[in-house]
Amino acid sequence: MSPITHLLASWAVAEGCTSNKRERLWICLAGVAPDVDGLGIAVDLTNEMLGRAPTQFYPHYHHFLFHGIFGALVTVAIARAAGVRRLWALVLVFLSFHLHLLCDFVGARGPDWYDYWVIHYLGPFTYAGTFWWSHQWPLNGWQNFLITIALVAWTFARTIRNGASPMSLVSQKWDSTLVCTLRQWRLQIQAARKRNIGPAT
Ligand SMILES: [Zn+2]
Repeated sequence: MSPITHLLASWAVAEGCTSNKRERLWICLAGVAPDVDGLGIAVDLTNEMLGRAPTQFYPHYHHFLFHGIFGALVTVAIARAAGVRRLWALVLVFLSFHLHLLCDFVGARGPDWYDYWVIHYLGPFTYAGTFWWSHQWPLNGWQNFLITIALVAWTFARTIRNGASPMSLVSQKWDSTLVCTLRQWRLQIQAARKRNIGPAT
């Protein structure tokens, strides 16, 4: 799925399970971390644009280097070194990483029906432990669109109710502004509804 969908899904886990900012940050980072093995695309495209010898970092390493147990354990270790101390929080980091794998497993197919995105769970050491789902839907499928819309709606609802959005991972000030704005909109909508269903004159 797209990085935005992964981020929203991991934020739903983080916001629902802990109020600690550092823990939330690392649960969300774990939710997007597997895709660091796709960053080779920048090198491939740069080499192509500069007319250098072509490289194949993206097709070779994306989903092989970090989309597995190795990536999960490295992410948990980095989170621990970065100050995530509670065991439950580290478990959530691990689970958030695997939620990403699950999302890719079900909905990351290429344009052709046979173009499955496989998970190399034991990569980058071996191709054993590779698996895929034959009903995997396309990356740009309506299912992913629907899931993303649902996550956006969920995030807005929780932001209004609990007063924190994914923006809080970046800036508390921006987050407060967003929360105030959303709550004002909700009050305006509620006021407009009351006017519409008020007694007829
Ligand atoms: Zn991925």
